[in-house]
Amino acid sequence: MPEVISQQEEEKRLIQRAYRQLLRTIKNPDEQDSQNIRNAYELAVQAHSQQRRKTGEPYILHPIEVARICAEELGLGPTAIVCALLHDVVEDTDVTLAQLEETFGERIARIVDGLTKLDSSYNSESPQAENFKKVLSTLVDDVRVILIKMADRLHNMRTIGSMPRHKQLKIAAETSYIYAPLAHRLGLYAVKTEFQDLCMKITDPEPYFEIARKLQETKKDRERYINEFIKPLIKHLDSINLPYEVFGRPKSIFSVWNKIKTKQVPFEEIFDLFAVRIIVDVEKVREKSICWQIYSVVTDVFKPIPERLKDWITTPKSNGYESLHTTVIGPGGRFVEVQIRTVRMNEIAERGFAAHWKYKGLSDGPDVYEVWLDGVRELLDYPNSDALEFLSDFKTNLFNEEVYVYTPKGDMKMLPKGATALDFAFSIHTDIGYHCTAVKINNRLVPLGYKLKNGDQIQVQTGSKQKPNEGWLKFVVTGKARSKIRSAMKEERRKQGTLGKEALERKLKNMKVEFDLGVEALVKHFNYNSHVDLYFDLATDKVHVSELLKPFQVLGGRLVLIPPKLVEIPEVPEPVVEKSSKRRDKTNKPKLLVGGESADNYSYSFASCCNPVQGDHIFAFLTMNSGLKIHRANCPNAMHLMANYGYRIMKAEWGAQTNSTFVADLKITGIDSGPGMIQRLSHEISTNLGLNIRAFNIGGDAGYFEGQISLLVQNTDQLSQVIQTLKNLDNVSTVSRVE
Ligand code: MN
Repeated sequence: MPEVISQQEEEKRLIQRAYRQLLRTIKNPDEQDSQNIRNAYELAVQAHSQQRRKTGEPYILHPIEVARICAEELGLGPTAIVCALLHDVVEDTDVTLAQLEETFGERIARIVDGLTKLDSSYNSESPQAENFKKVLSTLVDDVRVILIKMADRLHNMRTIGSMPRHKQLKIAAETSYIYAPLAHRLGLYAVKTEFQDLCMKITDPEPYFEIARKLQETKKDRERYINEFIKPLIKHLDSINLPYEVFGRPKSIFSVWNKIKTKQVPFEEIFDLFAVRIIVDVEKVREKSICWQIYSVVTDVFKPIPERLKDWITTPKSNGYESLHTTVIGPGGRFVEVQIRTVRMNEIAERGFAAHWKYKGLSDGPDVYEVWLDGVRELLDYPNSDALEFLSDFKTNLFNEEVYVYTPKGDMKMLPKGATALDFAFSIHTDIGYHCTAVKINNRLVPLGYKLKNGDQIQVQTGSKQKPNEGWLKFVVTGKARSKIRSAMKEERRKQGTLGKEALERKLKNMKVEFDLGVEALVKHFNYNSHVDLYFDLATDKVHVSELLKPFQVLGGRLVLIPPKLVEIPEVPEPVVEKSSKRRDKTNKPKLLVGGESADNYSYSFASCCNPVQGDHIFAFLTMNSGLKIHRANCPNAMHLMANYGYRIMKAEWGAQTNSTFVADLKITGIDSGPGMIQRLSHEISTNLGLNIRAFNIGGDAGYFEGQISLLVQNTDQLSQVIQTLKNLDNVSTVSRVE
C-alpha cells in the first residue's frame, strides 16, 4: 500500500504545481477573481477526481492547462480562466449547470453551457455540425466561448499522441476543416499555425518530419544570413529614436510544405523560409507615419520590388490584420520579405480576436469583428437552416475574404467574396431583395448575378410587383439571400396551393372520404414529398383531381387502390413513375413491357429498395395498394417476394431506349483526403460526366470516408461508365451500386 499512497501524493503535487503555474500567469487579479478561480479549481478537482486522460494523467490537468493557455497564450482574463477550469465538468461529471449558476453566477454558467457538447442522444444527421452550430450561437453572445474552445482544442491536439490512430485522424480532420480556418478568420495567427502543423504531423507525417529536419539542418546558415541582412539596417533604425525589435521569423512547416506543393519546387529551392520583422513601439497617432518612415529606411538600404508592397495599415485585412510588407533584394540577390508593424499591430496579428478586445475603441473605421459577428448572427437567425446547411453556409460566407462595396450614399458594405448584385440587395433589406428588378453598378446596368468587385458603388431598383423565383437561387451566394429566397418560394407554393387544397377538399367531401386520410393516401401513392406539393400541382393544373382519384375506390370512408388489372382504361392514363412530385412528360417516359403489354396500361412505379435502371434485369410485383412495383432481379427483396408471393410476380422487360432518367445509388469508399473530396467527386460527376446528382451523403472516420451518391442516369451502360470513372480517382477505393 505505501506505493499507492506515494503515487497519489505524487499526483497531488503534480496538480498543485500545474495550478500554481496557472496562477502565476494571472496579472493582478482582485479579491473576488482570486476567490472565483480558487472555487472553480476546487470544484473541478473534486468533480474530475475519478477520471484520467488517455495519457494516464489525472484528468484535472487538462482543464488547468486549458486555463493556462487562455491566460498566457490568448491573454484572456479571470472569467475565461474560471470557465476554462470548469469547461468539462457539466459534460463529464455530475455537476449541473444550475449548480454552476448558483456558485459562479449566470454569465459563467452560460459560457460553460456553450462549451458543453450536446447530449449524445440528441438526434441529428451530423452531431458534429450541431455541436459546432451550438458553439457559434453562444459565440455571438460571448466571444470567450470560442476562444476557450480553441484553447481546449489546442491542448487536445498537443497531447493527441496518446490517442489511437483512427481517433487522431478524426480529430485532425475536424481541426483542419473547422478550427484552423476559424482561427485564421479570428486572426489567431499563432493558434492557426500550430493547428496546421499539428494536423500535418498526423495526416502527412513523412513530409512533416522531412521538412522539420531540413529546417533544422539549414538553421545556422539562415541565422547567419539574417544577421548579415539586419546589420546595415540597425544604424538607420536607431536614428528613429523609438524602441524597436528586428529579427528573422521562420516559416511554419505547414506553410513551407504548401509552398513546395503549390510552386512545385523542392525544399532546397525555396528561399523565403523566413521573413524579417521590425516591431516598433509607438503611440497610436504616429503609427502610420513611423511605419512608413521605417519602410523608407529599409528601402534606402535594399532595393525594393515595388509590386510586392502590401499596405495593410491603410486597409487592414478582414480579420483585423495590420502590417506593412515589402520584399527587397537582400545580400546575394536573395528576395527577403520585411514586415513592418507596431507592438499593437503585432499583438493583433498574433492573437487577433483575443487581442482585439484589449484595443477596442482605439481603432477607427468599421469594427471588423463586429461586422463578422453580425454575419454569424444573421446566419443563426435563419429558422429553417439545418446544422449541415448552416455549416456549409458558414464556411462559404464567413471564412472567405470580403469585398467592400458602397451604397449610393457612400456607406461601405462588406460582403463575402463572390457575392453578387442580388446578394447586395438582400444585404440592404429583405424587402429590397424581394422586389429587386435591376441593379446599377457605377451607373451601369448589370445582371442580377453580377459578381461584386471592391469599390463598386451599387444602386438597387425595386418594383412592387417583382418577387423572387427559383432561378434567383443561382444568382446568390450569401446564406441570407439564399434562405430568404427559399422561404419566399415555399410560402409562394403554399399560397398558390390553397386553391388546389380547396378543390380536393370539396371532391373528397362529396365522395365521403375523410380529408386527412384521403390526402395521405394520395401523397403516398403518388410519392409526393409533402401535402404542399400535391396542392401546388393541383392548383397549377399539373394534375387534375379526377385523374388523381382514378386508381382509387372508396371503402369505409377511405381511398383504397383498385387492383391494377381491374382499372378501366377508356384512355391511356398517364402513369406516375417518379419518386418526386415532378411528373415525366411523354417524351421522357421509359418504354417498359409488363406481361408483354405496354406498362403504360398499368399504374406502376419503380421500387425504391433497388432503383432499377434501364438495362437492368427486372420483374414486376403486384402490390396490395400501390399498383405494380418494378424491382431489379437481384433486389435483396426479390428472393423473399418470389418465395412468398410467386403468384403476384409478372414478367417485365425494357423496350426501346428513351431519354428518360433513373435514380441510381452508388456507395463510395476511400481514403479521406480532406474537405476537397466532395467537390472532386461532384465535379467529376456533374461537370465531367454531365450527370445530375440528387443527393450526396458523405461521412467517415479514421481517415476513411464512406459516401452515398444518388444520381440520375439513362441506362446501365452509363452507370458502369460512372463507376469506372470514379474508381479511377485518387483516394477512391471502391465504388459499387447499392444492392
Ligand atoms: Mn476539454
